[in-house]
Amino acid sequence: MTASRSYKMPLPRTGGMSAEFYRFCRQHELRFQRCTECGTWRHIPRDMCAKCGSFKWQWERSSGKGKVFSWTTATQPMLPQFADQVPYSPVIVELDEGVRMVTWVTGVTPDELRLGMPVEVAFDDVTAEISLPRFRRAA
Ligand SMILES: [Zn+2]
Repeated sequence: MTASRSYKMPLPRTGGMSAEFYRFCRQHELRFQRCTECGTWRHIPRDMCAKCGSFKWQWERSSGKGKVFSWTTATQPMLPQFADQVPYSPVIVELDEGVRMVTWVTGVTPDELRLGMPVEVAFDDVTAEISLPRFRRAA
């Protein structure tokens, strides 16, 4: 977890509301939008609440705790940069707040992943500007 290494993997786009999301990540804070009308959390960032239609929201800090909801295992690299990573598993984590995000669970091989496995966020400072929210197995 050092920013000095040369990071070759694709980086997220950081325009619009995503810029705000990643600005919080840079501070090692996992924050999601939360509707101030009905209280529903949401991710990916967007203007309107899908539950009540309100445009009123604010960023709120997540507990960073969740569970493995689903995953797939890639045995062929989708991009050349992933060639030395196969097999690898993009994982959908469901946070305790109810939002789901595609991420990586580090320190776990694809065979060790389990539905409902408790995980917690662990930020990876991949460049001087970008910290990616990854997850690790929680107790
Ligand atoms: Zn709402």
